[in-house]
Amino acid sequence: MTAHVHAYAALNAGQPLKSFEYETGLLGPNDVRIRVSFCGLCRSDLDQLDNRLGAALYPLVAGHEIIGTVINVGSAVSHLQAGQRVGVGPIARACLNCSYCADGRDNLCQALEFTIGSGRRGGFANIVQVPAAYAFPIPESLPSENAAPLLCAGVTAYAPLRHHTTPSSHIGVIGIGGLGHLALQFAAARGSEVTAISTSVRKADAARRFGAHHFVVSSDPDQMRKARGSLDFILSTVDVDLNWTDYLDLLRPDGKICIVGATLGPINVPAGMLITGQYSFVGSAAGSRVVSAEMLEFAARHRIWAETEVMPITEINCAIERMRTGTAPFRLVLSHG
Ligand SMILES: [Zn+2]
Ligand SMILES: [Zn+2]
Repeated sequence: MTAHVHAYAALNAGQPLKSFEYETGLLGPNDVRIRVSFCGLCRSDLDQLDNRLGAALYPLVAGHEIIGTVINVGSAVSHLQAGQRVGVGPIARACLNCSYCADGRDNLCQALEFTIGSGRRGGFANIVQVPAAYAFPIPESLPSENAAPLLCAGVTAYAPLRHHTTPSSHIGVIGIGGLGHLALQFAAARGSEVTAISTSVRKADAARRFGAHHFVVSSDPDQMRKARGSLDFILSTVDVDLNWTDYLDLLRPDGKICIVGATLGPINVPAGMLITGQYSFVGSAAGSRVVSAEMLEFAARHRIWAETEVMPITEINCAIERMRTGTAPFRLVLSHG
């Protein structure tokens, strides 16, 4: 059987979303059908809605920080049951056979399909249907509306910390927004020394509340100078190019900078500094199944979740506008209630 879906879709790039209804496909043997309760609003939803990547197909139903309840499971699904609370992030499907999938790096699978785009429709809808391999059970202690952003922002912050840092690392986080406020919490809970780096001194109290031990105002040359040579790893969560010389200066020798904010254009990095400091400049793409599941368990154990404001899905255009104008809180979450 198919299911009837009520959604909000973009009919063209940059247009306000319109109410949009459709039928799901038949439920495949390995799929689950989920009734969506909450869906976070992520910066990359706006990139999709505005077709900044150039590959959007309209009508486009975005939303990839989904929490909901399983309604139906396909005939071959044995690890999920109807009634179970699950989350879905940006990845909907991987081949599960290639060497990357086999060794737990399925986020690098060449056959990857995303929750939005390439014909799939996301969580700005009351029902979604995805392969069961990418519907993650949500630990009981995580509140649904605060857990939704963990599915994209959470794992995007957690995965590079897990891959590149240890509890003895000194970690900097650039940008204290949706990604950054989760990165601070994960880094601090892992035992690292954490420095929040922001253009705005107004974020200082919040950064400390999220676990930062130090706060550096990046537009204050004095503060940046004092922080020189203090960090092993910097996670950049902002979606603009920066003067990377200033940030390479913050690293200790052999340090790394990792970009997860969606900077879509080229970035300008001085090669000489990379050589003499033996620095690395790396990227990180969401997270694999195993890292996503581990992140949720870690978040539950350490009571880490997103600081959110919930808006009804009927006000989705207002929510998008608030995100565009930078007046949103750490994370806006849409409720299907
Ligand atoms: Zn996202
Ligand atoms: Zn694969």
